[in-house]
Amino acid sequence: MAARTLRIGLIPGDGIGKEVIPAGRRLLEALPASLGLKFEFVNLRAGFETFEQTGAALPEETVSVLRSDCDGALFGAVSSPSTAVKGYSSPIVALRKKLDLYANVRPVKTVLTAAKPIDMVIVRENTEDLYVKEEKTYDTPEGKVAEAIKRISQRASSRIATMAGEIALRRQKIRAAGSPSIHRGPLVTITHKSNVLSQTDGLFRSTARDSLAAARFESVAVEEQIVDSMVYKLFRQPEAYDVIVAPNLYGDILSDGAAALVGSLGLVPSANVGEGFAIGEPCHGSAPDIMGQGISNPIATLRSAALMLEFLNEEAAAAAIYAAVDANLEEGKFLSPDLGGTAKTEEVLHDILRRL
Ligand code: ATP
Ligand code: MG
Repeated sequence: MAARTLRIGLIPGDGIGKEVIPAGRRLLEALPASLGLKFEFVNLRAGFETFEQTGAALPEETVSVLRSDCDGALFGAVSSPSTAVKGYSSPIVALRKKLDLYANVRPVKTVLTAAKPIDMVIVRENTEDLYVKEEKTYDTPEGKVAEAIKRISQRASSRIATMAGEIALRRQKIRAAGSPSIHRGPLVTITHKSNVLSQTDGLFRSTARDSLAAARFESVAVEEQIVDSMVYKLFRQPEAYDVIVAPNLYGDILSDGAAALVGSLGLVPSANVGEGFAIGEPCHGSAPDIMGQGISNPIATLRSAALMLEFLNEEAAAAAIYAAVDANLEEGKFLSPDLGGTAKTEEVLHDILRRL
């Protein structure tokens, strides 16, 4: 069988992005040939340093190359200046808009041997809800009043729920391909607050239900949970969740909350996903406090690379990476300082590559 060649854009950005993205590249290059994958890499710029050098945080070229010439990408981190800088805005937010990356996918996982093993993924809608940013403030005799629009559409709710169903099915395949899990079968939990917001969250809920009733999701169990009780259960009983689908704001809050369950930001990956395109991105920022010391944890990026491969339908390659990372964490010999170890980025990476 001819190898499949994937062209991957590499956008290190700022700070430790420059340390972890090269680790992601080396991981992809080290995948066993038996997986039938070849990679070509395109180095692209974005971030605060790029802004200072070129006047644009997200150069047009980066967008056009990603759009026309790449199958996927890895994005490191960008530092955000502590006070607003004129003309600067987040390049990843702009990229999500320009490439219509309508889903933010965040897996949160511990090793199976953890006291309370967790293996869930939060699928957050990324284009609407309160984030349409239509706000206004007006004066009344009693003082100022501010209002914001919460917009929920059938189209966006349907495509995010469909994606959640597909992710649930794919996770099942990845388990079968050798990445053991605490879950027996695919499950999607729809999160909302339709008891109060009967129209907006009501539409999200009913649309998600309808989308997940499609024949191809027959094997996927579907349940619902009101978002406040979900927060409670997320912390008491996180092992109960497989795939969680949520509108933008709840998804934002739940995904940061869930990340806190696993110990270090250095472990948590994410992907920004649209039609036929995915950008893997570690959840952490540019971490200026540890930059340049060679001690940043590469695992969030390595898992983000695997997640990107999932969306390129390379389940076997993703499973191989997840298993190698889990084995490194389970053995616990080469852990970076954020996990209480003394290993350098390079040593963690080396241990994981050896296991591939
Ligand atoms: P930014 O403004 O770019 O988000 P930040 O100062 O908020 O930068 P984060 O990157 O969000 O920093 O990190 C928060 C904390 O977690 C920091 O103390 C950082 O050192 C630590 N951290 C984040 N990522 C990693 C990693 N990959 N390895 C080790 N420690 C990390
Ligand atoms: Mg931060």
